[in-house]
Amino acid sequence: MDIRAQISMVFHLDKCIGCHTCSVACKNIWTDRKGAEYMWWNNVETKPGTGYPTKWEDQDIYKGGWEKNGNTVSLKGAGKLKGLKNIFHNPNMPVLDDYYHPWRYKYEDLFTAPEGDDQPIGRAVSMITGEPMEIKAGPNWDDDLGGSPEYARKDTNFKSLSPAEQEAMFQLEKMTMMYLPRICNHCLNPACVASCPSGALYKRGEDGIVLINQERCRAWRMCVTACPYKKTYYNWNNGKSEKCILCYPRLESGQAPACMHSCVGRIRYLGVMLYDADRIEAVASCNEDVLVETHLDIYLDPNDPKVIAEAQRNGIADSTITAAQNSPVYKFVKEWGIALPLHPEYRTIPNLFYVPPMLPGMAQVDSSGVYESSAKSLFPSIDQNRLPMKYLASLFSAGDTDIVRTVYDKLMAVKVHRRDCTVGDLPKDEVKDLMTVAQIDKDTANAIYRLTSLATFEERFVIPPAHREESIEMLEATADFKGETGFGFKERPARGL
Ligand code: SF4
Ligand code: SF4
Repeated sequence: MDIRAQISMVFHLDKCIGCHTCSVACKNIWTDRKGAEYMWWNNVETKPGTGYPTKWEDQDIYKGGWEKNGNTVSLKGAGKLKGLKNIFHNPNMPVLDDYYHPWRYKYEDLFTAPEGDDQPIGRAVSMITGEPMEIKAGPNWDDDLGGSPEYARKDTNFKSLSPAEQEAMFQLEKMTMMYLPRICNHCLNPACVASCPSGALYKRGEDGIVLINQERCRAWRMCVTACPYKKTYYNWNNGKSEKCILCYPRLESGQAPACMHSCVGRIRYLGVMLYDADRIEAVASCNEDVLVETHLDIYLDPNDPKVIAEAQRNGIADSTITAAQNSPVYKFVKEWGIALPLHPEYRTIPNLFYVPPMLPGMAQVDSSGVYESSAKSLFPSIDQNRLPMKYLASLFSAGDTDIVRTVYDKLMAVKVHRRDCTVGDLPKDEVKDLMTVAQIDKDTANAIYRLTSLATFEERFVIPPAHREESIEMLEATADFKGETGFGFKERPARGL
């Protein structure tokens, strides 16, 4: 066993209001610079939709992530050898138009235009060339289903739905949507790290944050192709790749990342997970039908005395172990099993998890305009969720609808239990049945409710105090990454935060 510590995040999607405050907070701090205008290290996209960059989930186009090769995995479209063949022509890389061409408005013309018969206007000008331009797309062009059906219909997650099921989603009275905030997943098997011919990308030993050494980056851009989530970006101005750094300077001084700190819906939870690095290759190459379960198994119980002893032997600080024991992420992901990884089939072993949305709460409208509901009392059943189970399974469980259903059973049980506690108007047998199906007791339901709805910042953000000197040592120790397979960082010494 080789125990490491990883900073992870949970996004509770029922709480996201799509306000983009997180994206703007991140942009103001990190990407408000020349060459980075088009970058949104944090973005929030509307689903169904094609996202940012357009169709990022379609790996037939971008060839990101890993593919299973027997008992191991190999990079789909990048990698040092495959990448070298494509140095001068990389057809799998998104181009600027796939993100959007950044622009600003020439507001100064409103004040400096000479007197004339017409009102002056502030024309759109390219932030790259400075020339006037026609706006064809923006970073959230399909926000709130804007542009549908042009964009929403091209969502690759519809592949799992029959044409009739897809059509049903686009009937005006049945249309629905959800928000999906995305940052780098700081993966345990990062395709970006493995693809870099210069060894510029690395995973910090002490907290698992994936970073790019700007000195080493030689602009190969293999990481841009390799990351299936399209969360590394190329800065055309300085010729270096860049990505989300999980606001590590803020973390090191005990502050939450800007996206989390500013989150209006308080949907984000940040904490430490302990995992067994010896199992990364086995998890990444496991069979498709056990992807989620095997992925979640890599995270260890921080209260288990054997795990604690092994973690201490590996140099993980006691403060990190304590933080892992109080981790809200561990509760959502492991204890309660209600948060799932985004696209586990990319096999990068992502460390961000999502509580899938139950909203909109109402059931579908039938042909006579009446809400369909087979519930005995107030709430519609989970089968009447307006986002089809298959669609959610395509996002969060590699297509396994049973996994999503299990999560929904639990969320529904919490809902009816709390209604029973506060209003008490539901039939007792219905409440009992739903709790039995979900296999959760009242204490667990109350704990889920509390962390979801009432948690203080201190309960949502649990990290140990950072030791800056250890970070610097780890940076030096990890600068020699050499793994073509992506498992090379196993050789690095582990440290507590
Ligand atoms: Fe690398 Fe994973 Fe982040 Fe993509 S999401 S940049 S593969 S660590
Ligand atoms: Fe959602 Fe929070 Fe971002 Fe608003 S700030 S879009 S609620 S994740």
